[in-house]
Amino acid sequence: MILPRVRLTAGAATAVGRRAENEDAWFVAEGAYLVADGMGGHDGGALASAAAIEVARDLATMRTPTVQDARDVTRLAHVRVRLLPSPSGRRPGSTLTGVVLTEHGGVPCWLVVNVGDSRTYRMAGGVLEQVTVDHSEVAELVRDGVIPEAEAATHPRRNVVTRVLGGSASDVDPDVWLLPVSPGDRMLLCSDGLTDELTDQRIEAELRAAPDPQAAADRLVRAAVKHGGRDNITAVVVEAAVGRR
Ligand code: MN
Repeated sequence: MILPRVRLTAGAATAVGRRAENEDAWFVAEGAYLVADGMGGHDGGALASAAAIEVARDLATMRTPTVQDARDVTRLAHVRVRLLPSPSGRRPGSTLTGVVLTEHGGVPCWLVVNVGDSRTYRMAGGVLEQVTVDHSEVAELVRDGVIPEAEAATHPRRNVVTRVLGGSASDVDPDVWLLPVSPGDRMLLCSDGLTDELTDQRIEAELRAAPDPQAAADRLVRAAVKHGGRDNITAVVVEAAVGRR
């Protein structure tokens, strides 16, 4: 739903990159924005990301979704992905990252949810900040001080996720954040195909250079393809205009 004082505009772009098929999925509708990155051989990955989105898009139908709603919907998505067949003998799985406009104590807020190594960023006042925490082996090694941050982008195990929708675990523990909306905020949701190719500084520069969310999403995906496009690339950009009626 859209709160009266906040107007959102959004754009989305995706590219298959150098992969055989695009297993990313995205959803953009009034107030809810999602990106999912599927994995799992044959059609498994594409089916997993589609299933994750199909369940999580329920957040768009809620009036003022809460942190608990975000957790519940994500758990349901996990169950749905786990019910998919495993044609390759490998259980299909999917990441999920998303942002939903909600309200908390009368204040418009971004409700951000994440499982896996897709990311949600916020750009406020022209400064880009990663909101989500990657659920990946390499991110955990960096956090524990085992490997320096500079090595993370090229580490051979950088794409091994530690939390995922589907897979063998019976439950999933999504991360959820609630952040007040500031006028001009831009939220970027993306699959790892974008962040494996572009540094945060480059992403920030591309966002600043693009006049509107659709142009920004197109620009980011194009830049990642040009840089090598080793994986599927998806970017969703959401912009908030806040004003009184
Ligand atoms: Mn990917």
